[in-house]
Amino acid sequence: MLESETDNPVIPEHTEVLGDCQNPHCITQVESSLPRLYTRNEKGVCRCVYCEHEYQG
Ligand SMILES: [Zn+2]
Repeated sequence: MLESETDNPVIPEHTEVLGDCQNPHCITQVESSLPRLYTRNEKGVCRCVYCEHEYQG
């Protein structure tokens, strides 16, 4: 039995709006109008969708 993967591009299924990204080089530090979007993985770790910096709230 094989688990087939879809051919769709990776689109975050679950995004959450949290606080500012703690990566000083993140684009959200410059583009203040961008929503602070994070994806939460199965371990409960949130990562910035722009730079994948781990969010520690
Ligand atoms: Zn970021």
